[in-house]
Amino acid sequence: MTNSPYRGRIAPSPTGLLHLGHARTFWNAFERARQSSGTLVLRNEDLDPERSRAEFATAFLEDLRWLGIEWQEGPDVGGPFAPYAQSERRDFYLSAWRRLRDTGAIYACICSRKDLAQIAQAPHEGVGGLQGDGNDEPLYPGTCRERGVEHALAANDPRGFNWRFRVPDGRVISFHDGKQSEQRFTAGVDFGDFVLWRRDDVPAYQLAAVVDDDAMRITEVVRGCDLLRSTARQLLLAEALGIAPPAYYHCDLVTDARGERLAKRHDALSLRSLRAAGHSPADVRKMWETESSACRKP
Ligand code: GLU
Repeated sequence: MTNSPYRGRIAPSPTGLLHLGHARTFWNAFERARQSSGTLVLRNEDLDPERSRAEFATAFLEDLRWLGIEWQEGPDVGGPFAPYAQSERRDFYLSAWRRLRDTGAIYACICSRKDLAQIAQAPHEGVGGLQGDGNDEPLYPGTCRERGVEHALAANDPRGFNWRFRVPDGRVISFHDGKQSEQRFTAGVDFGDFVLWRRDDVPAYQLAAVVDDDAMRITEVVRGCDLLRSTARQLLLAEALGIAPPAYYHCDLVTDARGERLAKRHDALSLRSLRAAGHSPADVRKMWETESSACRKP
């Protein structure tokens, strides 16, 4: 038990094995909570049923504990803001969706996959589309903004449509990051109307993160630099929901020899393989101190 107001969180997605890069970010989150004698929450981000697997959730709990990270609230230990798995928190997301729909902050998008694929081919845009974590979403040109899909707005349930947040074009979103200092993104330029509920009835990462960080009373979000742009989106979403945002601290990402960030496919650097190769948690921590790292805005 702690009286410190600091509440941090680590939020792994069970879509693969944790590697050195994740571990370093989570370790930072752990250290920051510990330095403030605060509480660390572990949240299982198993939102996407197609990409999430229960065995990866079991694996990350085990791997993080092996590494020496301790959390006071989580799916395995419970806590006052349970449930700690996003797949069990649909009601929270649904009530946020209703509020956003009622205030006109979001709209139903009926663009086909083909339409979206064409958009994704535009220069400089990612190809993650609707399947990614929302961070790599292509800039949506707003085709359905004024279309007003009336039957969608009348429905009591989001399923069947991609629901998009109407971003205030041209507005600069600036925030202070505890690690990366001042950040600025422009709505409509750095990101467009992003999806917050998918047609296949899966709430999007952006919505779930904002709703859960608020519901779990998180005071500081520590995560990777790849999510800086998502933070700008989430600040807009928090504002629309009347939520006071937490502080942010975006860690540099471990990069490989070519300067690319590590992805889950770098199997040799998964905590599992490092452990199987005989490395101790202390070895692993030493390893990421010597790896190169960088913060490149996505
Ligand atoms: N679940 C995300 C991931 O594993 C982290 C999202 C966040 O920290 O907001 O990359």
